[in-house]
Amino acid sequence: MFLGLETEKLWLEVEARYGRPVRTERPPELEANAEAVVTDNGTPVIRIRESVEPTEGRIAHELLHLQMVSEGFAYSIEPRFRSGSVTAENLALFRRTAEVVHNGVLHWMFYPKLRSMGMNPSEEFGGQLAETFFTGAAAGDAMTEQDLALNFFKASIETDDPEIPERLAAHYLASGWQVPLDTGRAMAESVTNSRPDSPEREVDVFLACMNRLFKENVALSVLGQTTQPRGAVQVFTVTVSIGVKR
Ligand SMILES: [Zn+2]
Repeated sequence: MFLGLETEKLWLEVEARYGRPVRTERPPELEANAEAVVTDNGTPVIRIRESVEPTEGRIAHELLHLQMVSEGFAYSIEPRFRSGSVTAENLALFRRTAEVVHNGVLHWMFYPKLRSMGMNPSEEFGGQLAETFFTGAAAGDAMTEQDLALNFFKASIETDDPEIPERLAAHYLASGWQVPLDTGRAMAESVTNSRPDSPEREVDVFLACMNRLFKENVALSVLGQTTQPRGAVQVFTVTVSIGVKR
């Protein structure tokens, strides 16, 4: 794989921060197409599913995640349910949702950098949107209100073409999805209005988005943060308390 000068530079910066070479893995099975993890001994690892192309865009994307982890941005966000409402379903919903929201905020922060490096980080998502909402046979109908809101949120903050959220909004209105449209839009506005640029503000915006998304059902707040030393870096886990509204 040939990397352009700027990606090469980013790769070296990440290795310098971690004090170790970046390891790449091509697992046959992976939840996402690509992910970045930090092993217990502090090795930065980029995993790209075997069946997808290890493009420079994917590599640079994961390098930026690794860089942000080394700068103190949350590595993981763990839920703590209050009042005995921990169910497998609630946990799964939290994890799935928190990942989209947390990544959305991080992507909003680093996609301009990828674009300045000549890449198009939202190409794949733009394609998925087109397939689901504009050309597909109303696949959006199978989505829950939360999924629809998350989808609009992601489209608003991860794509750089203002026409995409506009077209999507028109499609939502025509389909009677006013509530998820309002939710997704409010979530996106909390990111674009507060312009997070530090780990603290990133967590604040994450919570604001999650609270907006689940405002009928739960209230989230930060319970604490733990630091784990891993080799030359530290990774941060933020624990959020989740109270179910009755
Ligand atoms: Zn990402």
